[in-house]
Amino acid sequence: MLILVLNSGSSSIKYQVRETANPNPGTAGLDATDGTGSDEVLIAGTIERIGEAGTDDGGQDSGVRNHTEALERIGQAVGQALHGRGLDAVGHRVVHGGERFSAPVLINNEITRAIERLNPLAPLHNPASVLGIRAITAKWPDLPQVAVFDTAFHRTLPEHAWRYAVPDELYRNHGIRRYGFHGTSHQYVAARAARFLELPEDGFSGVIAHLGNGASVTAIAAGQSVDTSMGFTPLAGLVMGTRSGDIDPSILLFLQRQGMDADAIDELLNRRSGLAGLAGNNDMRSVVEAADAGGRSAQLALDVAGYRLAKYIGAYHVAVGGAQAVVFTAGIGENSWQFRANVVERLAALGIILDVDANRAPGRTSRRISAQGSAIPVLVVPTDEERAIAEATAALVSGL
Ligand code: AMP
Repeated sequence: MLILVLNSGSSSIKYQVRETANPNPGTAGLDATDGTGSDEVLIAGTIERIGEAGTDDGGQDSGVRNHTEALERIGQAVGQALHGRGLDAVGHRVVHGGERFSAPVLINNEITRAIERLNPLAPLHNPASVLGIRAITAKWPDLPQVAVFDTAFHRTLPEHAWRYAVPDELYRNHGIRRYGFHGTSHQYVAARAARFLELPEDGFSGVIAHLGNGASVTAIAAGQSVDTSMGFTPLAGLVMGTRSGDIDPSILLFLQRQGMDADAIDELLNRRSGLAGLAGNNDMRSVVEAADAGGRSAQLALDVAGYRLAKYIGAYHVAVGGAQAVVFTAGIGENSWQFRANVVERLAALGIILDVDANRAPGRTSRRISAQGSAIPVLVVPTDEERAIAEATAALVSGL
């Protein structure tokens, strides 16, 4: 099937057209992602600076005015590249599925409105997805569309993991609870890790660390998410490129009393914290280089981030009743042997031991980086959110 995968942000849309087979005929949804289906990227691109048409310094009209115009451009690019072949479906990455969506769904008007009602929970992301869905509906009204939610995989969290210890009315009136994000990646990687270990998906328990620009760690028990480090928003948990992760909530009150308003605190914690706040750079490669050259603040940033993640791994080892593996994925997890070493060296108390050479060896496929004598394996498993979205879309649409 020809699937257009759309990842709509507030000022950009990433797109791919993939030739994807329903990976597991007879089932639908992400759990069908076992990596056995065929899959190929035919076209990939990004439309940036949406809403900035005509504002280019050089007087060039390089932006587009809105999401409808961006989709128009994507439609043209796709049409040309496919030489008249038609798309079979569109798969949308949707950040927030609230409490309702626990799996990918076929989109209709009611579903679009339900996603729109979740806008207050993801004010930067969900409105863009809704615009993308409506633009596709206007352009290709008969094309099936599927929504794949970042939160869905975490709908299996037990209540003691998703509740915050605050008055019940905050949950009832405002939906304040842990939702968790990066679910598409965590689910895909958990399935791949199980396969690598020759276990059934529902027989796998482990800890998955998705370490990209945003970073989160998830506890998987019997194939299901039972805890995750991001919370009500993607600000919670690990030290990220520009986000603080966990901090004492009273710091916000303190800053407010010092005269900072909500927008300033938002900017501080989401854009100027994390590696950027500690080391002055949000890119892990640069931070590692600076630390290797003797930079103290860069080494401190690596240690704060590595220590935080190691603590979470210890905690989630308990949460899953004994992990069968620790798994690294995404930009940093797949590529930065230095950061992986920083984390795994802190896990000796759990009997987890790195194979130094295996950890340093570059690779593009799933691999083991722990020593023979390690209590449990440590794996690197590449993620591919677009592939997961395409396969989930193919699985749902082929059932129509
Ligand atoms: P992602 O959001 O998954 O694309 O990951 C982005 C992060 O991955 C950035 O912090 C990059 O510095 C990091 N990254 C990508 N490639 C490498 C690499 N070869 N070594 C270390 N970090 C990397």
